[in-house]
Amino acid sequence: MDCLFCKIAAGKIPSDKVYEDDELLAFRDIDPKAPTHILVIPKTHITSINQLDVESSLIVSKAFLLLKKIAKDEGISESGYRIVTNVLKDGGQTVDHLHFHLLGGRSLSWPPG
Ligand code: 5GP
Ligand code: ZN
Repeated sequence: MDCLFCKIAAGKIPSDKVYEDDELLAFRDIDPKAPTHILVIPKTHITSINQLDVESSLIVSKAFLLLKKIAKDEGISESGYRIVTNVLKDGGQTVDHLHFHLLGGRSLSWPPG
């Protein structure tokens, strides 16, 4: 499948990896929007939250535990951070492979644009 994040997960395209196991990969966003901007993806292709079912939802809880750990490692656990997943056009999704943005290291405005 011609998917950018599948290629990153397979190591065909290099990335600045923060964490990797059999199921998940975390790497730094190429165009960071905050001092910490890390993406967590499942290695298997899931297009977005729209494709989640009970079976595949376990990866989401694993991803959130990893996001929590990375936030601590990045030193933003106490200052605060945001976890975002964009879905389709109105959500601003530009890569059609489920990913969670971890943003922190500065005060983030709300609501998003
Ligand atoms: P989305 O807009 O789909 O929610 O997020 C996609 C994110 O992937 C964007 O923040 C964008 O900067 C990032 N991105 C796009 N291409 C690459 C790439 O080749 N490498 C890395 N590390 N990040 C990428
Ligand atoms: Zn993919």
